[in-house]
Amino acid sequence: MSELKIYNTLTREKEIFKPLNAPHVGMYVCGPTLYSHAHLGNCRTFLSFDIVFRYLKHLDYKVRYVRNITDVGHLESDGDEGEDKIAKRARLEKLEPMEIVQLYAVDFHKVLDDFNLLPPSIEPTASGHIIEQIEMTKKIIENGLGYEVDGTIWFDVEKFAKTYPYTELSGRKLDEMLDGTRENLEGQEEKRGRLDFALWKKAKPEHIMRWPSPWGEGFPGWHIECSAMSSKYLGEQFDIHGGGMDLIPTHHTNEVAQNVACCKKSPAKTWMHTNMLTVNGQKMSKSLGNSFLPQQLFTGNHPLLERGYSAMVVRFFMLQAHYRSTLDFSNEALQASEKGFNRLMNALGLIPNLKTASKSSFNINELKENIYSALNDDFNTPVAIAYLFDGVKTINSINDGKEAITEDDKLVLHRLFHEIVLDVLGLKKEVSDIIDSKSPALIQTILDFRSEVKKDGNYSKADEIRKKLEGLGIQIKDSKDGPATYTITL
Ligand code: AMP
Ligand code: ZN
Repeated sequence: MSELKIYNTLTREKEIFKPLNAPHVGMYVCGPTLYSHAHLGNCRTFLSFDIVFRYLKHLDYKVRYVRNITDVGHLESDGDEGEDKIAKRARLEKLEPMEIVQLYAVDFHKVLDDFNLLPPSIEPTASGHIIEQIEMTKKIIENGLGYEVDGTIWFDVEKFAKTYPYTELSGRKLDEMLDGTRENLEGQEEKRGRLDFALWKKAKPEHIMRWPSPWGEGFPGWHIECSAMSSKYLGEQFDIHGGGMDLIPTHHTNEVAQNVACCKKSPAKTWMHTNMLTVNGQKMSKSLGNSFLPQQLFTGNHPLLERGYSAMVVRFFMLQAHYRSTLDFSNEALQASEKGFNRLMNALGLIPNLKTASKSSFNINELKENIYSALNDDFNTPVAIAYLFDGVKTINSINDGKEAITEDDKLVLHRLFHEIVLDVLGLKKEVSDIIDSKSPALIQTILDFRSEVKKDGNYSKADEIRKKLEGLGIQIKDSKDGPATYTITL
């Protein structure tokens, strides 16, 4: 069997995975900032790490998976400008910041549960680790890489860059970064270097979330929370650190700098970054107005959606792209995934009842090797799924009496499909999913029937059907030159 290789952003190479303390593996993933609902793009990133978590566990590693919740310190600019995202939302909605966090934390967990993501081993919050963040900031100051200006502590990037390759992770050039930053950013005139970032910020009188510190009342910067929490729960050095690719140039670059400045150690051996979910080639993001929520996806209630799709179909759709490739959302792709998902799950259901023979007509070990080599090749789920479909073809042929399988091979096949499809890919078929997956076809049947009724001139019956469907939250849109379409309004 091949060995697991993971692409490391730091070295830009696929490396054989060797945990620092096998069989234990420590993995830290940057979690959400809970100031609004998580959109489907966010879900894609967490799903990619769910596969990593599941596969490592499947390989018998004992994984401690830490995924944080950012509930303080993430400013609107993603840098050191603007209002705290959560505090702003709290102000606008006249709620306590922690009410905002709780509201969206409940929603976030529900959505990830719908997509069948396993909960992480620890889910620490930034606001629960203020002391650790202050301690780390103190050490960075002691080591000469942090300085105070009027109650705010800045990280001295240019001084740090003299002894450590600050841009190692991003591959950017420091000079170009310096040229690219705007001069005299508002409210940041006091920092020495243009790339310096805040470890701790002085709270203005109107700032709601504030804590006492050796430098007066304030709140932590966004990046320091991950450095403090990862080293608290996984040690100064651990195996894997992950997040979306958009976090590389600033958040993760600064995280590395903080850990090295504090403890002289780069935190993670392997950095993994997931690529973006796009819509018509553009990153799905709330600010661009092209994002939608998982709930809208399930009901189909969004202008970009022709109809609803079940959570497992969406999970399967996302696994059909490699986590380092972009994945473009489209109704066609989701509909194709729905067909594929149903075929796969049907084949899984056929295995226990396959008739056995004295000889197999195919090589089960080759199939198994192929699936594992794909997963061992940097978690290549699309290739693994393609091989699973070779298996599906064989299962269907055996079921039709065109191919044969021995009792022993059937046991191997059963275990292989069970473990890969259910445990590693995390797909499941529940009664509600079966109903969900059949609903579009059922609604279409009713629409077809209604158009027949209209063709026969029975408009009152057609109206009656429309009203009944409306009562169920299914809105029909008639079209002059094409078939009627529908949306679910619930
Ligand atoms: P945020 O809550 O904005 O900090 O984002 C949480 C995570 O979702 C981060 O790891 C982001 O990189 C990731 N993310 C944001 N937008 C997308 C997208 N369109 N596709 C994939 N991941 C995304
Ligand atoms: Zn982080």
